[in-house]
Amino acid sequence: CGIVGYVGSSEALPILATGLKNLEYRGYDSAGIALADGDGIEVHKQAGEIDDLELPSNSPETIGVGHTRWSTHGEPTDANAHPHVDCTGDVAVVHNGIIENYATLRDELERSGHEFTSETDTEVVPHLVEEELEGGASLPEAVEAVVERLHGSYALGVVTPEYDGIVATRRGSPLVVGHGDTGNFIASDVTAFLEHTRRVSYIEDGDIAYVTADDVVVEQDGQRVERAVETVEWEA
Ligand code: GLU
Repeated sequence: CGIVGYVGSSEALPILATGLKNLEYRGYDSAGIALADGDGIEVHKQAGEIDDLELPSNSPETIGVGHTRWSTHGEPTDANAHPHVDCTGDVAVVHNGIIENYATLRDELERSGHEFTSETDTEVVPHLVEEELEGGASLPEAVEAVVERLHGSYALGVVTPEYDGIVATRRGSPLVVGHGDTGNFIASDVTAFLEHTRRVSYIEDGDIAYVTADDVVVEQDGQRVERAVETVEWEA
């Protein structure tokens, strides 16, 4: 239902936790956060209220993604909460929307040895990314290849320990990028990060955004595109 992501020079955890609270008004049944650094991915997720989400009091990572879930495939359980990870635990994905062909993809992945830990449509995505990474792709290349295989609607945010940022993409579900002074953001809607920046660009269907601490590059069909940075006027 809601996505927030941050990469910059500040600690990601409090920014993501506040971002989730800002998305609360949209409704949800589960929430979670994945934090990334060069050593690995740390995931905190559970069914229920954001306020009940068990989070460390502080965490040094400066990259992460958060999610509020409104379940479509799989009951609201801790295992089905996002972020979802692959078998290595090194690819974390948050997703809004529905992957229509997930059953076919899951069968194929299970036949090649992937073990699934949830009933969600979403979980095929980290496993597909893992396959691409194992084949030698970079994270941007992997996400580009994986979205070619997805049918349905999605906004996705992906983090791994090897990539210094967030790769985000959308088709049919909303996604915005926030351009801040001490880092950049992704979100399903601007309310997630408005206390940090009002400068936003709207990601279009089929775009892939490579969001790092001091740069945002957007591509469509492998070609770089410019998405205008606008200032949101908002009465708090
Ligand atoms: N289809 C996904 C799920 O059920 C994502 C739902 C959402 O947008 O929150 O986990």
